[in-house]
Amino acid sequence: MINLLNFSQSQLADYFVSIGEKPFRAKQLMRWIHQFGVTDFSQMTDIAKALREKLAAEAEIVPPAVQTEKISDDGTVKWLIGADAVNSIETVFIPEADRGTLCVSSQVGCALECTFCSTGRQGFNRNLQVSEIIGQVWVANQRLKQRDGYDMLPAGERMISNVVMMGMGEPLANYDNVVTAMQIMLDDSAYGLSRRRVTLSTSGLVPAMDRLKEDCPVALAVSLHAPNDALRDVIVPINRKYPLKELMAACQRYLVKAPRDFVTFEYVMLDGVNDTEEHARQLIALVKNVPCKFNLIPFNPFPSSGYDCSKPHQIRVFRDMLMSAGHVVTIRKTRGEDIDAACGQLAGKVLDKTRRTQKHVPIVSVNE
Ligand code: SAH
Ligand code: SF4
Repeated sequence: MINLLNFSQSQLADYFVSIGEKPFRAKQLMRWIHQFGVTDFSQMTDIAKALREKLAAEAEIVPPAVQTEKISDDGTVKWLIGADAVNSIETVFIPEADRGTLCVSSQVGCALECTFCSTGRQGFNRNLQVSEIIGQVWVANQRLKQRDGYDMLPAGERMISNVVMMGMGEPLANYDNVVTAMQIMLDDSAYGLSRRRVTLSTSGLVPAMDRLKEDCPVALAVSLHAPNDALRDVIVPINRKYPLKELMAACQRYLVKAPRDFVTFEYVMLDGVNDTEEHARQLIALVKNVPCKFNLIPFNPFPSSGYDCSKPHQIRVFRDMLMSAGHVVTIRKTRGEDIDAACGQLAGKVLDKTRRTQKHVPIVSVNE
């Protein structure tokens, strides 16, 4: 059986042609699947009965299964979603007054081993399929619509207006599937999100950033976390392959095609590790040729991480220094902490092939 949730509209059109049908049917089907949430072909009333039967014989629409749904005191919702019999991933909906943001996972685990990230700690299990990535949007959209008093809720609690590829995994390491899923997010016959409202966060896979700007330029966030190579080599190990100079140049190239005229640099605040005034000065010098905004993320602890979050006072000093240098800086509000839904806390259920969770991870401290 072919799961039609894996297809973008153009792939669906190719599929229709391959079974001797008109390609324009793809648009109708996208609307049934993604906008109306229909998985049963017999309900697709504007499609001829013969075609519905033909589809039912060889295709299916199978979203991933929801295992648990947790709602935080602050309204954040976290779904544990089954990727297969042994693995689960997590998807988080963050309501605000004027927008609703869905944080989507791209892989089961992650191979990149950033030392402060619980997903990285588990190691890599597998890439998610398109149906599992866009399936998170499908599932969240359906679940939100089914809530009690749905029509009375403020807009930001009702609908997914923004998607951030900031859940589990490195999205650019699952390039083809993530790009296809994002094309479905942008498709007017599916979720119709604007490119400015879909943000991909990467730890800095430079060649894939160059491909992305051609294939599917969406808003870009880069997980910087350190202002020099010596420290970044340790806490974001992919830096050894694509060091800061190359990463900054890739950001500049990306901006030529990007839907926004800045890159968002994410910077996790780790007490005594990357949060001193000297680090702030280095950071300002590092980004001087890249139009950017900063998003400072208070470190969210997880068991045996070996790190502490920077002191609130230190975060403010750091922010003020960046602002004095003319940068726009936000400090990310921690949402959904009571249900372990905050950044870097997404763990899902991963068959741990590495046993890394059981290894002792030393506290990192690097002197420049
Ligand atoms: N792999 C991608 C996207 C997923 S992580 C990336 O690294 O960009 C989304 C963001 O959460 C990244 O900026 C990541 O560095 C950050 N993060 C990871 N662990 C964290 C933690 N424990 N506390 C706060 N932020 C964390
Ligand atoms: Fe992977 Fe991102 Fe976590 Fe690093 S921060 S281990 S790239 S998910």
